[in-house]
Amino acid sequence: MNNTSADNTAAAAASTGRALIAPRQLTIVCVVALAAAWGFLPEFTVSVLSNIGLYALVAVGLVMLTGVGGMTSFGQAAFVGVGSYATAWICTSPAAVAWMGSMASPALLPWAGLLLGLLLTFALAWALGAVTLKLQGHYLPLCTIAWGLSLYYLFGNMDFLGGQTGITGVPPLVVAGFSLATPRALGVVIWAVLLLALWAMHNLLDSREGRAIRALKGGRLMAESMGVDTARHRVKLFVLAALLAAVSGWLYAHLQRFVNPTPFNLNIGIELLFMAVVSGAGHLWGAVLGAALITLLKEKLQDVLPSLLGSSGNFEVIVFGLLMLFVLQRFAEGLWPTLARVAGQWVRPRPVAAADAAAPAVQLAQRSLPPRGEVLLQATNVSKRFGGLVANNDISMTLRAGEIHALIGPNGAGKSTFFNMISGVDDPSSGEVRLAGQPMAAKPSRVFAALGLGRTFQHVRLLGARSVVENVALGAHLRARRGWLAAMLRLDRAEEAALMAEARRQIERCGLGAHTDTPAASLSLGQQRVVEIARALAGQPSVLLLDEPAAGLRHLEKRALSVLLSQLRAEGLGILVVEHDMEFVMNLADRITVLEFGTVIATGTPAEVQANPRVLEAYLGGADDELLEDAR
Ligand code: ADP
Ligand code: MG
Repeated sequence: MNNTSADNTAAAAASTGRALIAPRQLTIVCVVALAAAWGFLPEFTVSVLSNIGLYALVAVGLVMLTGVGGMTSFGQAAFVGVGSYATAWICTSPAAVAWMGSMASPALLPWAGLLLGLLLTFALAWALGAVTLKLQGHYLPLCTIAWGLSLYYLFGNMDFLGGQTGITGVPPLVVAGFSLATPRALGVVIWAVLLLALWAMHNLLDSREGRAIRALKGGRLMAESMGVDTARHRVKLFVLAALLAAVSGWLYAHLQRFVNPTPFNLNIGIELLFMAVVSGAGHLWGAVLGAALITLLKEKLQDVLPSLLGSSGNFEVIVFGLLMLFVLQRFAEGLWPTLARVAGQWVRPRPVAAADAAAPAVQLAQRSLPPRGEVLLQATNVSKRFGGLVANNDISMTLRAGEIHALIGPNGAGKSTFFNMISGVDDPSSGEVRLAGQPMAAKPSRVFAALGLGRTFQHVRLLGARSVVENVALGAHLRARRGWLAAMLRLDRAEEAALMAEARRQIERCGLGAHTDTPAASLSLGQQRVVEIARALAGQPSVLLLDEPAAGLRHLEKRALSVLLSQLRAEGLGILVVEHDMEFVMNLADRITVLEFGTVIATGTPAEVQANPRVLEAYLGGADDELLEDAR
C-alpha cells in the first residue's frame, strides 16, 4: 500500500469520524478470533461450525460455477458422496486395506482415499460436464438433477458400498502421528482447507483466466472472439466445483466416521445451491454466510417447530422451503449486497490497485504486422441465407494491411451479418473466407482471434459490472499463457502486471484514461464502444473490424476516433469499418464497399462511390441525404 491511499483512508476516517477497516484486515480479525476461541467453544458449537465449514467448501465451488460462471447444478451433493464413499471404501474394504497395507502404513489409507476420490470425481465430472454443459437453458439444471439422483441411488444399491446402511468404521485422519478423531481437531483442518479454497478461488478470479470465467455468464460470444475457449472453460469450472465438493466429502467421512447415502440426496443438493445463492451468487464469502445461515436455520427449525406444530410431521422442510421462497423473492440480489451496505459504514471500500509505473518484468506475446499492402482478409462469393432471406449475396472483398475499408449501406443491408461471416461468429452458407492466407471454413471465432483478428460489436458486449481495465485486459487474453493453477497459487503476478499495463496503455491511447477503473456499464454508450476498440487493440490485431464505432460519439470524440484510426492505419493495420456517419467515412476510408439488400452495388474510392449512380439511387429514398450532399 502506498502513501496516498493511506492518506485517503485517514482523511475518510477523519471525515466520517469512524475508524475504517480494510476488507483484508476484517478477514484476518475474524479468522484470528475464530482460531483463538476454537479451544474454548462448547462441543456442540464446534461441531456445528465444522459442518458449516464443510457445506461452505461445497458452496464456494457452487458460487464459482453458478454465481460467476452462470451454470446451475442441483447435483453437487453427489460429488460430495463420491469423495466420501471413495475414502470410506478404501479405508474399510478388506481387499483395499490388504493391498494398501502391504505397501504403506494404515495411517496413509485416508490419503489414498482422498486421491481416489479426487480422481474419480475428476473423471466423472469431466465426462458429465462434457456431455451436459452443451445443453442450453433449463436443460442443464434438469440434467444435473438427473445425474444427482442417479448417483444417489447408485450409492444405495451397490453392495460393496454397504447399500442403504452404508459403511461404518471409517478411521480418523492421522496427520504427523496426531489423530484428528474429534470434531475440535478435524474442524481446524476443515476451516484451514476452506480458507485455502477461498484464497485460491479469489486468486483465480483475479487473473487472466478469471476474466475469461466471468465472461462465461452472458458473454460467451464475446469471449470466444477474444480467443477464449468457453466450452473448455465451462467444463474446467464444473470439474473444479466438483473437486471442492469431493474434498468436502472426504473430510465429512472422516468427521462422521461412517457414510450412508442420505446426506448425498437431491434435497441436500438443493440446499447447497441455496447456500450459494442466498447471499447473492457471485460473492465467495457469501458461500460461508449462506452455509452458516442455512445450517443454523435448519438447526433452529428442528428445535423450535416440533414444540410449535407437534412432532408428527416433517414440518421443517416446508417452513425452510417457504423461508427460502421469501428470501429469494425479497432479496433478488441476495443478502450480501444488503450486508455490504450496512458493513460499508465500517469497512473501507476495496482500494483500486494502483498502476505499476515500473516496466513489467515479463513481455506479452508480440505479433509482427505483415508488410503494407499484403492481403489480410479475403472474402470470396460469401453468401448467407436465413431461411428464405438472403442476408449476404455473393459478397467478395479484400482487406489489405495499411488500409481503411468502409462497408456502408442502409439498415438491414447485411453489414453486421457479413462481419459475423468474416470473424467466425457464424458460418457462410456458401463462399470462402481466408484470413492471413488460411481458409477459415468452420473455424470458431477464437481461431480468427489467434490469427490476428480483433473486432467490436454493433451491440456493445462488455462485462458491465467489471472495470474498464478488466474488460480491456480480456482482449489481451491470447497474449499471455498462465493457466488456472498458476493463477490460484498467485504465480501469475508478473504476467498479470504486464496484461494490466498493456490494458491501461490501450485505454490511454483511446482517450479513456480517466475511466480506467470505472465499471464499464457506467460509461456512456459511445464511450463503451471505444472501450470495445481498446479491448480489440489489446489483442494486438493485424485486422480490425469495427461495427459502427462512431455511433453515439460526440463531434470531438468522433474526431479523436478518426485520428486514432488513421494512426493505426499508418502502423500497418487493416481496418474494416461499418459506419453510418458519411462525413466520417468519406474523410477516413481508402476504399468503400456499398451493400444493398445483401448485394454489393459499388466498390471503389470515396470519390468513385459518391459518383456512382446506383449508390445515389440506393440512398435517394432513404434518410441518408448526406451522401447526396457530398456528391453534389
Ligand atoms: P445491417 O447490419 O446492415 O443493418 P444485418 O446484417 O444486421 O444488417 O441484417 C441483414 C438482414 O438479415 C436483415 O434483414 C436481418 O433482419 C436479417 N438477419 C440478421 N441476422 C439474422 C438471423 N440471425 N436470423 C434471421 N435473420 C437475420
Ligand atoms: Mg448492423
